[in-house]
Amino acid sequence: MRSVFYPHLVNGAFGDSALYVRIAHRGEALLFDCGELHALSPRELLKLHAVFVSHGHIDHLIGFDHLLRTFLYLDRQLYVYGPAGLIDQIRQRLAGYTWNLIEGYSFVLTVREWAAGELRECSFHAENRFEPVPLRSWPSVDGCLLATPDWTVRVESLTHGSIASLAFSLEETLHVAIHKDALIAHEYQPGPWLTRFKSLVRREEPDSRELKVPLVEGGFKPVSLGVLKQTIAHCEAGMKVVYVADAAPTTKNCQKILNLAQNAHLLVIEAAFAHADLDRARERNHLTARLSGELGREAGAARLLVYHHSPRYQETPDLLRREAMVAFEGK
Ligand SMILES: [Zn+2]
Ligand SMILES: [Zn+2]
Repeated sequence: MRSVFYPHLVNGAFGDSALYVRIAHRGEALLFDCGELHALSPRELLKLHAVFVSHGHIDHLIGFDHLLRTFLYLDRQLYVYGPAGLIDQIRQRLAGYTWNLIEGYSFVLTVREWAAGELRECSFHAENRFEPVPLRSWPSVDGCLLATPDWTVRVESLTHGSIASLAFSLEETLHVAIHKDALIAHEYQPGPWLTRFKSLVRREEPDSRELKVPLVEGGFKPVSLGVLKQTIAHCEAGMKVVYVADAAPTTKNCQKILNLAQNAHLLVIEAAFAHADLDRARERNHLTARLSGELGREAGAARLLVYHHSPRYQETPDLLRREAMVAFEGK
């Protein structure tokens, strides 16, 4: 399948948690978890539009200061999503620095916490020395955290010891591909109208709706959405990438992961311990490689990528990946 999301683990399978996802043709990217980020270039960091933090453990959040440092001088807004408590954690991180000379800066940081179907937002403006703006909140329907015309991020809350650890699903909206040869054959002039056409299809506007299509020879021709769909486009379900971070190996967590990861094109999931060390995994509230592989298979995921390996397996660096793949492939 064609890719619209290009995910990669910033720090490999053993390093801090951070999944960088570049979005094709958009010049933008998303980050899932915010562990150490020095392996990303400033150029890559500045593509970030939003960061999704599973939980506030240090290996998932230590990169925040680096991100802040990169965005601080810019006229940009950065969104950080995460579990209950994140607003306060970020507020305290910001309060750990002196901000007396940034009144002229326009950077805005907006933190949104998700808990029990509600989003709570707090913004921090550089020009106000990152003093928190009063909270506002609103319901989040179907676990939807952020929806754009092209993609949506949904959330599921897992348990990780006494805290919540959020898992995320990045889903492309219905994919609409344009047949270039059909455009030429119909003498339609490519241009911004194609973007509008795609968004009308995704919004399921009626087929009778007409668009003014520019012609190669000049001028316009009114063509209905239905005819355009049949003649110049091909529609297929969008790409889905699911990111699961630290989670206790409980039945309830597994059920929630299965729901979220259903038919994912890629499931990125922690595999902290070997299944032979299941007792240790239970004690530490992490998944084993075999469990993660089984979850990927049962969810019908097309591909599996495991990470967050415990350093105790450094001597056998491929062990957890192999264990997960055997379970994933059902051998
Ligand atoms: Zn953790
Ligand atoms: Zn962790």
